[in-house]
Amino acid sequence: MNTNVTEIFGQNVFDDEKMRQRLPKDTYRELKKTIDQGLPLNRKIANAVAHAMKVWALEQGATHFTHWFQPMTGITAEKHDSFITPDGPGKVIMGFQGKELIKGEPDASSFPSGGLRATFEARGYTAWDPTSNAFIKEGVLCIPTAFCSYTGHALDKKTPLLRSMEAINTQAMRILRLFGNEDAMTIRTTVGPEQEYFLVDREYYDKRRDLIYAGRTLFGAMPPKGQEMEDHYFGTIKTRVKTFMDELNQELWKLGVMAKTQHNEVAPAQFEIAPIFSTTNLATDQNQLTMELIQRIAKKHGMVALLHEKPFDGINGSGKHNNWSLSTDTGINLLEPGSTPYENMQFLIFLAAIVKAVDEHQDLLRLSVATAGNDHRLGANEAPPAIISIFTGDELAEVIEAIMNEEDYGNKTPAYMNIGAEVLPKLPVDTTDRNRTSPFAFTGNKFEFRMPGSSQSTAGINMILNAVIADSLQQLADELEKAEDFESAVHQLLRETFISHSRIIFNGNGYSDEWVEEAERRGLLNLKTTVDAVPYLKEERNIELFERQKVLSREEVESRYEILMEEYVNLLNIEANTMVSMARKEILPAASKFQKELADTIIAKENAGVALSESYEKDTLKKASTLLNTAYASCEQLAAAKEKLQSLPTVEDKALFVKDVIIPDMDALRAPCDELEIITDSKDWPFPTYGKLLFGL
Ligand code: ADP
Ligand code: MG
Repeated sequence: MNTNVTEIFGQNVFDDEKMRQRLPKDTYRELKKTIDQGLPLNRKIANAVAHAMKVWALEQGATHFTHWFQPMTGITAEKHDSFITPDGPGKVIMGFQGKELIKGEPDASSFPSGGLRATFEARGYTAWDPTSNAFIKEGVLCIPTAFCSYTGHALDKKTPLLRSMEAINTQAMRILRLFGNEDAMTIRTTVGPEQEYFLVDREYYDKRRDLIYAGRTLFGAMPPKGQEMEDHYFGTIKTRVKTFMDELNQELWKLGVMAKTQHNEVAPAQFEIAPIFSTTNLATDQNQLTMELIQRIAKKHGMVALLHEKPFDGINGSGKHNNWSLSTDTGINLLEPGSTPYENMQFLIFLAAIVKAVDEHQDLLRLSVATAGNDHRLGANEAPPAIISIFTGDELAEVIEAIMNEEDYGNKTPAYMNIGAEVLPKLPVDTTDRNRTSPFAFTGNKFEFRMPGSSQSTAGINMILNAVIADSLQQLADELEKAEDFESAVHQLLRETFISHSRIIFNGNGYSDEWVEEAERRGLLNLKTTVDAVPYLKEERNIELFERQKVLSREEVESRYEILMEEYVNLLNIEANTMVSMARKEILPAASKFQKELADTIIAKENAGVALSESYEKDTLKKASTLLNTAYASCEQLAAAKEKLQSLPTVEDKALFVKDVIIPDMDALRAPCDELEIITDSKDWPFPTYGKLLFGL
C-alpha cells in the first residue's frame, strides 16, 4: 500500500493538472473558458479532450468508458463501452471520439421517469458535465454526466442540482454587488457530507434475508447490551475495521476525494467518514463514489456495509449531515461573519435570507429528506425531529433579538448604521456551541442540515436547499435594488425579515416533548412521515417556485412526485413480502420445533414420575405457544393486507394504505416474533441475532 498520500492523491482522476499538461495550450484555455462560463463544448475542443483523456485512460490500464450518471433511483448508473473500434479486417484500434465524450445514449427505459418518458422515446441521453472531472474506477473511464429525455426533461438528480446552483449564483451575486463587491465572478454552494454507516460480518449478513432484500433487520430482539454504555463512540477502531478504512481512504484519495475524518459512531458497529467540503456538484459525485466504495471495499474485507437509515430497531440510525455554505470564486465564505460592521450587514442579509427560506419552505425541506428508511429516524430520540427549525446559537440569537427590538426607525434616521457600529461591533459567533438536536444548525460559518438519511443522494437535498434560498435572496435583492438609502433599507429589511420568520429559530432541546407542543403553538409543520410530506411537492406555490428559479418544470415536479411515492410503496411492499416469507418459512417453523422439544420433555418427565405442576418447560411452552399463535395470525393478516395493497387504484391510495395498515401490521408481526426469539433455544433460532450482528465484527 502506497502511503505517500500526496503522490497518490487524484491519480485516478483526469483533473485540471492533467488536462493542462496533456492538452494543447489553446485547447486547454478554451476548455477552461467553457467550463468557467458554462458554455456548450464545441466539437473541435471535444475531440482534443477526448483524445487526451483516452491516451491517459489507456496508460492507466482502462479498456472501457462509461457515461456515469445519477438516475432517480438515487444511486449511480453506468453502461460500459470498450474503446475498441474496427480498423481493417480482423484489427482494432482503441478509439474515443469527441462525440462519445459529449453525448451518450444509454438504453434507459427501465430507469424511473415518473411518466416523463413515453416508451416510444425511451432513449434519454447523457451529456458530459465538464465541471466534474472524469475518473477511472475498476478499469473503466467514468465520465460524469447529466441525464435528460429528448424533450429536454431532466431524468436524473444531477441536472436540477446544477440548475439550482445557477439559480443561487444569480441571486447571491446581486446581493454581493449591492454590497459593492465587484471582483467576484461566481458564487458556488459548498457541501461537506458526513456519511454514517454500519458494518456487519458477511457470514451473518448472508443468513438474513431481511438485510439482503431490505437493507435493514425486520425482526430482532435487543441483545443484553445495546448502545447504553456509549463505549463505542470515538473508541479505538478495531483492527479489521481499521484495515478496511485504510483501503477505503487510499481508494478515495486516488479518486481525488479528500477523505478527512473517520471514527466510531455512537451505536456499536457504526462508523462515520467525512471529506473536506467542496463545490456541491462535485461533493455530490464524490459522496456517491464514497458510498459505492464503502460497500465494495467492505466486501473485500469479509464485511457488508449497511447504508440504510435504520438497520436495527432500538439502536441509533444513520444520517448524512449536509454541511452547507456559499463561497465566491475569490475564496470568500459568505456565511463567515465579517470583521467590520459593513461585512456583518452582508452576512446578516444572507442569514436573513436563509431564515426566511427555511421558514417559508419547511414543507420542501422536510420532503427533501422524506424516504421510507428515514421515517424510522426522524422524530425518534436520536435524530432531529421531523419538525424543521433553525439553531443559531445564543450569541447570534441575541443579535437577531437586538435587530428585531430596535425602535422603529424613520426613513431619515441615519442612526440606522448603529446596528453595525454599536450593536454589532464584531459578530461573536460561538463555534464551540454543539447543539446536536437541531435539524438545521448554524455552526460558525456554515449550516449543518442534519435530517438527510445515510443512503440519500445529496443531489435532491441540495437542489431544494439551493432553490428555496435562491428564491428568498431574489426577494431581498428586489427590495434592496430599488432602495434609495441602501443602509437603512438593509436595516429595515433585516428587521422585517427576522420579525416575520423568527418563529423558525429554536435553540433549545429538539428531542423534548415540550418542543413538539411549542412548535405547534408557533404554527410550524410537523410532517411525521413520507406520506405526509411528499404531497407538498405538488402544491402550486412550490411548483411556481421551482419554475421561477428554473430548477424544475411543472412536468418534472410531477414526475418526481410520482417517483417518490412509488419508491415508498415499492420499498414497503418488499419489506412486507420479506417479513411474511421469513415468518412462514423460518420463524414459525423454528418456534414450533422448539415447542415440540418442550412438549416431549414434559411428557418424558410425566412418564418418569418427576413432573411438577409448574416447571420451566410448561411455563415456557404456554408462553411460546400463545406467541406462536399470535405471530401466525399477524402473519396471515399482513399477507392479506399485501394482497389488498395490490388492488388499490392509485399511488396515493397505496401510500396511505401502507402508512395506515401495512406498517402497523408489520409491527404487529414483529412484536411476537421478537418475543419468541428471547425465549427460544438459540440453537433453534433460524438466523443470527442482534448480538452477533452488532458485536460480532
Ligand atoms: P462535526 O459536525 O462532526 O463537528 P466538522 O466540523 O469536522 O464536523 O465538519 C463537518 C463537515 O463540514 C466537513 O466535511 C467539513 O469539510 C464541512 N465544512 C466545513 N466548512 C464548510 C463550508 N464552508 N461549506 C461546506 N462544508 C463545510
Ligand atoms: Mg456534524
